[in-house]
Amino acid sequence: MSSIIQKLVGLGVDLSTKKAMKSALKMLGIKPENVDKLYIELKNSIHRDDFLKTEPKNRILFLPQCLRGRNCRAKLGKKGYECMMCGGCKIYKIKKELEPLGYRIFIVPGGSMVSKIIKKEKPGAAVGVACMKELLLSCEEEFKIPIQGVELLRDGCINTDVDIGEVLKIANGHRKTGKGKV
Ligand code: SF4
Repeated sequence: MSSIIQKLVGLGVDLSTKKAMKSALKMLGIKPENVDKLYIELKNSIHRDDFLKTEPKNRILFLPQCLRGRNCRAKLGKKGYECMMCGGCKIYKIKKELEPLGYRIFIVPGGSMVSKIIKKEKPGAAVGVACMKELLLSCEEEFKIPIQGVELLRDGCINTDVDIGEVLKIANGHRKTGKGKV
């Protein structure tokens, strides 16, 4: 995937919109089912340098509420669900790794809350974990900060799944994960 992106960037192809990128990928003979993934990967790579210039304490991580465990007792507040750190889902592990680095983590019910939180918290950068549909929608928003997207392994309204390693890798700027390694 990354070699295709490098090729497109090297060719100076207009990649500012999904439509433009779709036409470029079509020219390269890329299968239509890979276009969305490539688009997110491309967006990530375009914003990565600016993302990495920010301190983790100046970044936000958005997690979808559908990642919560079946017996989750987190209550919905103005800034999303307030996790009780019961250990019943992957959110617990992600929070344990990233909050000590300074990340502010929000468990959100949808994209509209993401915009509100960004306006209020004014982060320098953000990571968003979501299904492909939500990731693509977020690409159309003008957040004016570098954002890195991570696609869920399994989507749906409940019982979704994510690759924790992937979240930590992206949040840590593709360096080895672990406290203080950013
Ligand atoms: S760790 Fe947090 S989000 Fe996950 S089930 Fe427990 S309270 Fe809910």
